[in-house]
Amino acid sequence: MRLRHKPWAQDYMKEQSSIYIAEPASLKGAWASEFKNGNPIYIEVGSGKGAFITGMAHQHPDINFIAIELFESVAVTIVQKLVETPQSNVRVLTVDAKDLRDYFEKGEVSRVYLNFSDPWPKTRHAKRRLTYKTFLSTYEDILPAKGQIHFKTDNRKLFESSLMTMSAYGMRFDWMSLDLHANEPEDNVRTEYEERFSSMGQPIYRMEATYQN
Ligand code: SAM
Repeated sequence: MRLRHKPWAQDYMKEQSSIYIAEPASLKGAWASEFKNGNPIYIEVGSGKGAFITGMAHQHPDINFIAIELFESVAVTIVQKLVETPQSNVRVLTVDAKDLRDYFEKGEVSRVYLNFSDPWPKTRHAKRRLTYKTFLSTYEDILPAKGQIHFKTDNRKLFESSLMTMSAYGMRFDWMSLDLHANEPEDNVRTEYEERFSSMGQPIYRMEATYQN
């Protein structure tokens, strides 16, 4: 993701308080009150510019979606999309995935999506991959028993290492494709990176993995 410095992003987002949650720790255990309903909450970790989360929210009005994006300069694009086309079932957070326990109670999140996560190819950076065991433990602590991660990537090495870390963690694989677009499910919502890599002819890998706790 190419980052452009956008010094105005934080002030702009803070003005959109029905979309952007500046103090998410204050909602830990109370997200249902923020959405004003008890619908399930799905989060996407590393949302980028938000094509997936806004597309999913449109497709599933009875699910609440929360975008988790590290960088304000990136997340601001999601907020802008939501200002242009309001969707009451989406919120945006600029936080680090490693701190998700600070924002959600156990079981408060019903599903985690990881899409085209940064691959961190060097072995010495393996701990930064969003499917490393410490991240798997963080997601487990906010999901209910038998919670699920849905994961897509164009990066074969990241897919392989994720299969290894999830399998070592004791997760079960319920769904897998090594070429998602060869037989693309009708309801697949493409991300920005997915569009880009698919148009370059690269296969897209996808899996659904379930915790066995
Ligand atoms: N999911 C989008 C897509 O498929 O088009 C964006 C993919 S981009 C390669 C990965 C995104 O994850 C970046 O926007 C990056 O800032 C975000 N990210 C990386 N590490 C993160 C972390 N620890 N917490 C939250 N977001 C993170």
